[in-house]
Amino acid sequence: MDTIGGVNIIPENDAERVAALERYQIAGSRRETAFDSICRLACELFAVPFSHISFLDADTEHIKADVGLGGIARVGRAEGFCALAILQSEVMLIEDASRHAILASHPYVTGELMIRFYAAAPVITPDGFIIGTLCLIDQTPRGLTDREQALLQHLARVVMEQTELRNDNLNLLQQRDQFIEVASHEMRTPLTALKAAAQFLDKKHPEDAGIIAQVNKSVQRLSGMVNDMFDAIRLKEKTFDLNRTAFSLQILINNCRDYVQLANKKDLMIEGDSDVNIIADAVKIERVIVNLIQNAFKYAPGSPITIHAEKLPGFVKVKVTDHGPGIPQDKLPHIFRRYYRSDPSGVQTGLGLGLYIAAEIVKQHGGEIGVDSQPGDGCTFWFTLPVSI
Ligand code: ADP
Repeated sequence: MDTIGGVNIIPENDAERVAALERYQIAGSRRETAFDSICRLACELFAVPFSHISFLDADTEHIKADVGLGGIARVGRAEGFCALAILQSEVMLIEDASRHAILASHPYVTGELMIRFYAAAPVITPDGFIIGTLCLIDQTPRGLTDREQALLQHLARVVMEQTELRNDNLNLLQQRDQFIEVASHEMRTPLTALKAAAQFLDKKHPEDAGIIAQVNKSVQRLSGMVNDMFDAIRLKEKTFDLNRTAFSLQILINNCRDYVQLANKKDLMIEGDSDVNIIADAVKIERVIVNLIQNAFKYAPGSPITIHAEKLPGFVKVKVTDHGPGIPQDKLPHIFRRYYRSDPSGVQTGLGLGLYIAAEIVKQHGGEIGVDSQPGDGCTFWFTLPVSI
């Protein structure tokens, strides 16, 4: 299992090498366009039909990106040629595998893949561990000039740089999550105390009702943000419990309207047919609808807003439509991502968590969520929920 054609494929420093790879959190990760682009570039540069980037841990070759291999995600470490390529810090070059002493009878050579030409540059960490390869494959024999080999090595260094950047980015995101987790925990207690103090003052000093109302409004806004931060972390850790009960969607939508109109006194219309009972977590579904309405108020100020409910076979669909600036098409696929703000420079934006939380709540109920938008012509955010029998 640890040899290919009788060659030992486990280097002496393999445990340290695998530990170095683990630092990068990349083995087994999903496909990413930056790595696919490098493979495409390699195919163009060297005029080969196949290229791939692999990372090798103790027993698996994880294929991070490929051209021509059909998106295969992993093979056993001893299955491919890369286990041999990571044994050397230079390019491993096989001009015709069918004449190769070790690989001529390899299934990749004799079988469907019909590998003849194979060249792999090692992907080397700054502290010298070979964690992966950038490979070129062709089904006809050919060579690589010294200059081409140097170019391939250079491209493998780009793979390493991309891996570093990706890891820095991941670490930053993890630090942000840790910060958000600690901050939201720490802020909940003083916020509760603040709320209680405001209530106490409200009773004690009715003459200051105006100021106390302002304090309450700010505390409410702050609690909303802290709750979003708290829930975003819990959702990521999948510890969000649903408290399902049967309730009328119509009553819930009316409650949402009351809640928002109290705060904003803007025009909000309810249309369609929401006369249906659903079994769901009413508090969380209310939160979804309130969030969509609040966003419409926030990002489409002055526009009329419509909540439309529609009964469809087996489920109900709720739409919240505004006639504001809308969302550019290229931003739409990202809009439900954690921390995503379509215009981070805009004064109106918040933490970028509201739609993420809404989407998770809907998905955990077995529903779907989406948005249709034409820039300049507003947005329709919609979600569906299964209806109770
Ligand atoms: P937040 O409002 O805290 O930034 P959300 O997750 O609620 O976070 O929204 C993400 C982004 O989607 C916002 O930053 C905003 O740019 C965009 N967005 C949401 N709703 C609308 C809307 N109705 N019209 C235009 N843009 C919107």
